[in-house]
Amino acid sequence: MLDKLKEELKNCTNCPLYKERNNIVFADGSAKAKIMLIGEAPGADEDKTGTPFVGRAGKLLNEFLQKAGLNRKKDLYIANTIKCRPPKNRKPTPMEKIACEGNLIKQIDIVKPNVIILCGATAMESFLKDKKLTITKARGKVFEYKDGIKLVPVFHPSYLLRQHSLEVNQPRDLMLKDLLMIKKLASL
Ligand code: SF4
Repeated sequence: MLDKLKEELKNCTNCPLYKERNNIVFADGSAKAKIMLIGEAPGADEDKTGTPFVGRAGKLLNEFLQKAGLNRKKDLYIANTIKCRPPKNRKPTPMEKIACEGNLIKQIDIVKPNVIILCGATAMESFLKDKKLTITKARGKVFEYKDGIKLVPVFHPSYLLRQHSLEVNQPRDLMLKDLLMIKKLASL
């Protein structure tokens, strides 16, 4: 079913982002994973390869996953809120997110993860509508989605690229703690 959806999206023109895309960036990891990770939008490396989280931020994410004892290919299913790259790596507009929302929901419904990691503010805002929530306040907290699926916001690795401290309770330390908690929550 996921393959069929991916195939269909190759011709998707539901929002203007189709005009400049080189590749649909559909997903990476395992469709049987207990954890789904949702990021913001594809960047240049992702648009080139068709795979999410493969640039610098993706490499840092891989390091954190490894430290938490999570296997990117086996334990996670990774996607973005939208499947085509916004120009100049800008944030997706609300209209673009709405246009692509149905595709993400279909992915969630097929994968049926135990936990969804909302990676960064853009992914968080797609699911948690409380305008007062910031990623700093919400990260590491567990929210309910549907069918018993839990949502947990975490920092986006592109933010962590600018945070170098390894001190306790600094963003990099909190990211590792969040991933370890998520691993438990997903019963891994
Ligand atoms: S971002 Fe989503 S809705 Fe927009 S063209 Fe790409 S696949 Fe279609």
